[in-house]
Amino acid sequence: MLSASWLLDHTSTAHAILSADGTILFANPALSSLSGRPAASLLGLHFQELLSRGSRMFYETQLASILLLRGAIEGVSLDVLSPDGRLCPVFLSAVVAPDPDAKYTVITLYEATQRKHYEDEILRSRRELEQLAEVVRRSSDAIFRLSPDGTIQSWNKGAELIFDRSSQQALGLPLDAIFTEEHQHDLAAAVAKIKRGQEAALEMRALRHDGKTVEVDVVLTPHMEAPGTLVAFSAIVRDSTSGKRTQKALLQNEKLASVGRLASSIAHEINNPLEAVTNLLYILDQMVADPEAKPYVAMAQEELARVSQIVTHTLRFHKQSTNRTSLDLSALTESVFGLYRARLNNQSIRAINDSRRVSPLYCFEGELRQIFINLVANAFDAMRTGGQLTIRNRDITLQSSGQRGVRITVADTGTGMDEEARTHLFEPFFSTKGIGGTGLGLWITQDLVRKNGGAIRIRTSTRPPHRGTIVTLTFPHTAPTTEP
Ligand code: ADP
Ligand code: MG
Repeated sequence: MLSASWLLDHTSTAHAILSADGTILFANPALSSLSGRPAASLLGLHFQELLSRGSRMFYETQLASILLLRGAIEGVSLDVLSPDGRLCPVFLSAVVAPDPDAKYTVITLYEATQRKHYEDEILRSRRELEQLAEVVRRSSDAIFRLSPDGTIQSWNKGAELIFDRSSQQALGLPLDAIFTEEHQHDLAAAVAKIKRGQEAALEMRALRHDGKTVEVDVVLTPHMEAPGTLVAFSAIVRDSTSGKRTQKALLQNEKLASVGRLASSIAHEINNPLEAVTNLLYILDQMVADPEAKPYVAMAQEELARVSQIVTHTLRFHKQSTNRTSLDLSALTESVFGLYRARLNNQSIRAINDSRRVSPLYCFEGELRQIFINLVANAFDAMRTGGQLTIRNRDITLQSSGQRGVRITVADTGTGMDEEARTHLFEPFFSTKGIGGTGLGLWITQDLVRKNGGAIRIRTSTRPPHRGTIVTLTFPHTAPTTEP
């Protein structure tokens, strides 16, 4: 039969017998290798001398007395410190030999390095998982999990914000309930793809609890388990409006830059012949004596002035007048009407200059003229079949600041604007006039009004009897102003 001492010599578990004061009386080879000390050097040492500082303190203050009290301890985690500084985690079991006279303690140490690794690993991954869960919870993107049949099973903060639904309101809902009708077909196709184990991305409209809708990008990811069964899928939903808006703005900027280049080169080319014709007409005006011909020359000059206006002003590539001057708004109104005299007559439009008690506005005259021209041009376009155009200039006290200022109203009895036009009218390139419009008039107008410290407001109706559009501009007086 195999002897017990052979077993003690060959087992990988470390064993020791200690005297009552903890002196090592016996140690097997496994303890020698575990503690990094020759077997002979172990004898006579106190057991706690094999331990790291922390473990030694724990052993002396707690374990020794518990051991005496209970007679046994099991599976206590300690660290053994080798003379070369290597730390080895162990589990210690100890039992006091049931001998009433001599109190021997039998000690067993299991090496716990592997186990310690696992524990650390588990702890670390749990911490990572918690951090990840926290990221998901707090994400401003909606991230949620769905059962294979498409029922919502989890709901994060971002989902609450984008869909305006608490998790209580969302959990248990089918996926198609939180998107608008229009893309349901795409959604069904995406879910079919998911069931085949493929990811799907789509653009949808989120249907919020408050009834509003938001443009979103949606990515659906399947969670498959062997052998190819769908156990769940997740959805990441991101609000795409701001991204689209920047994209649109970039596109518009690009368009503007190219229009700008084109326009400035055209303006440059046209300017020279224009100047020549202006001079020629001037000479002609001097030479023509026929009273019937004279008005034609005058008209030609006015029309030409309009062309110059367009070339030099409309696209803002004129040299800005650098100084403000005192501008008579009534006179400006007359001169703009004068520019349009032919069209006024052709389109049977009655033009009314209603300027009473209006003090001069200290401003950039060229810019004010351009504002007037843009607004009047729009009014003309809206009154193809006749109507009434009224420009009213008044002195006022601005409600917002209590400052003195002027109010200019350009009112037409034209078609008015529908909802679509109302929401986009200040955007560059928005025009309902096809190739007849640039969509730059109101955009530039707004810019010029602001530049001169003013504000613009538009009221419009498409329904009689008050059909038409009223554009109201207000400008504060800036010094030096002359009160009437
Ligand atoms: P454009 O005149 O080149 O179209 P604007 O910026 O001047 O560009 O105007 C934008 C759009 O606003 C017009 O296409 C038109 O639909 C609408 N609009 C502007 N002014 C009026 C108005 N007085 N009456 C009706 N619609 C108007
Ligand atoms: Mg216009």
